[in-house]
Amino acid sequence: MNQGGMGWSEIVTLSGKARTTWPDGLIQYCFTNEAARAEFGIDIQDAWKLWKDLIGDAGTANGHSLVFREFKFKEGAHPYCHSKSTENWNPDAPEDLAVFGFDSIPGVQAWSITGYMPKEFQNDPGRHGSRFDKESKNKYLRPYWVNTVAHKLGHVFGFWHEHQRDDRDSYIHFDCTKLTNYENSKATVEKEGKYTMAQICSNYYLALIHNFPAIQDFETIDHDAYDNDGKRHTLFLNTDLEFDDESIMLYSSAELTNPGKNGNDVTQVPLSFWKHRDMGYDPPEQFTKDNLELIPINWEVSHGDFEGIQHLYPWHG
Ligand SMILES: [Zn+2]
Repeated sequence: MNQGGMGWSEIVTLSGKARTTWPDGLIQYCFTNEAARAEFGIDIQDAWKLWKDLIGDAGTANGHSLVFREFKFKEGAHPYCHSKSTENWNPDAPEDLAVFGFDSIPGVQAWSITGYMPKEFQNDPGRHGSRFDKESKNKYLRPYWVNTVAHKLGHVFGFWHEHQRDDRDSYIHFDCTKLTNYENSKATVEKEGKYTMAQICSNYYLALIHNFPAIQDFETIDHDAYDNDGKRHTLFLNTDLEFDDESIMLYSSAELTNPGKNGNDVTQVPLSFWKHRDMGYDPPEQFTKDNLELIPINWEVSHGDFEGIQHLYPWHG
């Protein structure tokens, strides 16, 4: 499924100092409008079920405090994030709600904001949440789409991609040349003659101005975010827990594979597991069919993801 397709492509910001977890573990959301709830309401429910079946309710037994629910508007209020027939923020909605709605950017299936932005940092109403592309939804089989939405919820909760941890090279091999759009970007970069592709492939900022936005979802450098006053903050990843092979936040080998490459051939995909991956593993200089393994789609929320929830949203009782 999705061999050489557009995969998880998305726009996401990293978690860190300028991003926090949701206060008291409470995530309340709203839909932009009635059409958004009609289209994505069931997707959000099904995707949340993937999490909920594993993590259960907040409380001592499950060791976490995460609550995820639709915001209840006061009686008689227009029950959506946006005011009726506009894109203006509904004054009856708390401005920090997570917002779900439509978006359609060519090649982008969905995007999410990672975690929570305290209002001292950024106070735009509707700054949290995800947007989904209806065309992408209709293109994929239902389980794949629900899986995509569950991955997006992971971002909303505060998770970043497993394959973008700074220790990822001990576990996975990233081959930038196998990413979709590599050749186009290479042509641009070579014409300009200022940077190497190795530099572009490891730096999202350079990649973005060289026609290669996909790099945002693969490199491991720290990103920046700007606050209310336009001041720049560096966002850091926290990787206290061990790398998780089964995380729903890990891309499969087929994601964003160049359409000219074979997503089932481990030497032709952007991401693959090292066969002997482990903490502190020194990766081989050469990659071959023998030292790599394909990364399958992780259809379920993993136990490692559950531990992540307990870690971000501990139960204090
Ligand atoms: Zn993602």
